[in-house]
Amino acid sequence: MDSSEERDVFYMRKALELAKCAYDAGDTPIGAVLVYEDRIIGSGYNKRNALKSPLMHAEIEAIREGADVIGDWRLEDTTMYITLEPCPMCAGAIVQARIPRVVIGAMNPKAGCAGSVINLLQMQGFNHRAELVKGVLEEESAELLRSFFSRLREQERAARLEQAAVAKPELAAAAEQKRMEQDRINGPVQDGAGISEGTDKSE
Ligand SMILES: [Zn+2]
Repeated sequence: MDSSEERDVFYMRKALELAKCAYDAGDTPIGAVLVYEDRIIGSGYNKRNALKSPLMHAEIEAIREGADVIGDWRLEDTTMYITLEPCPMCAGAIVQARIPRVVIGAMNPKAGCAGSVINLLQMQGFNHRAELVKGVLEEESAELLRSFFSRLREQERAARLEQAAVAKPELAAAAEQKRMEQDRINGPVQDGAGISEGTDKSE
């Protein structure tokens, strides 16, 4: 790869592939890869819902793997690629790991800590500040998130219709129709596919 711009797009695409794994598993689609000397040494995707843990964010997984490969807690000379602006925990972990460069896809206005709510990655008072590159494959990342939340809303609507049908049998036909329509759009709804979380975007 010639330019650092091409390299950033290449690795962000890898992070997006991981985000799609989260999507398929019913978790908010967020992916991360950690790159050192032009190879991926850590990767992860959001498993918060799948593992019922508030700590299982994509970045944490990537940092854990990367630290194992490098054999140190300092991840100097690495670049972190994230499809969505990091939350406070992950921005904190990036600072703790001394990751010098962070590339972000979409911003997260309600919870992002790389400039949206606060910029923990470039705070004057901290002993570490990261170089930030924003907006790499931004539209792809945002579209994946939009599609995820719209699927979630559809599933919730279908579930409500089904509940109503139990109370009022004449609504059963409408619920069945809705389900068939949804299967046609998304494929069959998987068991436990993250429908309990509502439209929580607070990743
Ligand atoms: Zn996070």
